[in-house]
Amino acid sequence: MTLTSEERKDRLLTIVQGMLSREFPTGRPTRLGLHEGVSDAKDMADRAVADSEVHQNAENIKKGQERYDSLKSLEARISKGDPIYCKECDEEIDLKRFEAYPFNQFCVDCQEVNEARDGVPRKTGGYAFLPARA
Ligand SMILES: [Zn+2]
Repeated sequence: MTLTSEERKDRLLTIVQGMLSREFPTGRPTRLGLHEGVSDAKDMADRAVADSEVHQNAENIKKGQERYDSLKSLEARISKGDPIYCKECDEEIDLKRFEAYPFNQFCVDCQEVNEARDGVPRKTGGYAFLPARA
């Protein structure tokens, strides 16, 4: 199945925008709500609970902000016509793969080669080594 560049762009955008709307349904990064709950706190106990939740959430919110920013910049890149190529071999990255790992910059083949070169054990067990180049 070969997509035209317009079709591919649409698919890429749909994937990224789907992630944005699933992960950030309010359309903003602080889904967990830095202040949500606090203003509604009726008494000291509620407020203490709300405060501790805010602290617990602070790290998540920061991560959420980073994730949001990354997805937005990815969306912007695609909108400008970036077809999301593999950094290694310049092949277009498979859409399924993109959906699973939107920030991975390599295609499956190059990723495996990179991991083999770095000596990272594969899920199938053992190590993969680069075939000798002729
Ligand atoms: Zn590649």
